[in-house]
Amino acid sequence: LLTLGLFSSEKSNLAGVRHILLVLSGKGGVGKSTISTELALALRHAGKKVGILDVDLCGPSIPRMLKVQDKDVHQCDSGWVPVFVDQDKSISLMSIGFLLEKPDDAVVWRGPKKNALIKQFISDVAWGGLDFLIVDTPPGTSDEHISTVESLRPYQPLGAVLVTTPQAVSVGDVRRELTFCKKTGLRVIGIIENMSGFVCPHCSECTNIFSKGGGEELAKHAGVPFLGCVPLDPQLTQSLEEGRDFIQEFPKSSAFPALA
Ligand code: ADP
Repeated sequence: LLTLGLFSSEKSNLAGVRHILLVLSGKGGVGKSTISTELALALRHAGKKVGILDVDLCGPSIPRMLKVQDKDVHQCDSGWVPVFVDQDKSISLMSIGFLLEKPDDAVVWRGPKKNALIKQFISDVAWGGLDFLIVDTPPGTSDEHISTVESLRPYQPLGAVLVTTPQAVSVGDVRRELTFCKKTGLRVIGIIENMSGFVCPHCSECTNIFSKGGGEELAKHAGVPFLGCVPLDPQLTQSLEEGRDFIQEFPKSSAFPALA
């Protein structure tokens, strides 16, 4: 990794990016990377050019979700060339997953080294022109988040989408994310409640496995927009496992209306 060195990009690599969205969650496993991935696919279907920056250094799952885990990043004069997910280059991705020798390698680094890599990711990836850059962050509010927000602050408009599951324990963690956004001056675009109910494929009855409504209540209470509920959907899990385009391939599934 270190042999890749620091590129000095005089002209910012983010100059051609129109909007930057940070995807945040209070805890792991609530579907943050899922939302980042599906958001990118939905924007692509809407005709937008999208980049994804995966700064979840200890759990980079997006390369696998987009089935590009075997690809490599290359270097050019202005930095790293991200991996293109499709032929027409409408989704590009940069992730530490591409820099690890083996996919199961663990990143066991202290904060300063992680922060340095995040800063390098933000300055040295040659995105070209993008309508949206989606930044998938690690769970919680750590040093890495502060580095990310500080490095991205000069580039506007910048905003955060917060992902929670409906239960009180996850909602409580998102409350801390809201405080983080307030303290760092990061605009909150809204809250998404993921894994919100399960619609039985046989009888169509909805069971609220993790309860329901916590995300919406929090949004109301905090005075930020509520962006919607995504149900628990086995076809979504399957499509992410297999690196398929959920919106294109599963239009009849229960999570489709929310994600499309
Ligand atoms: P995080 O990034 O918050 O750690 P992930 O996006 O990796 O979480 O999601 C954790 C797991 O849950 C993944 O296996 C993903 O496929 C699954 N998952 C996420 N959201 C849903 C959903 N709405 N329905 C079904 N499975 C989901």
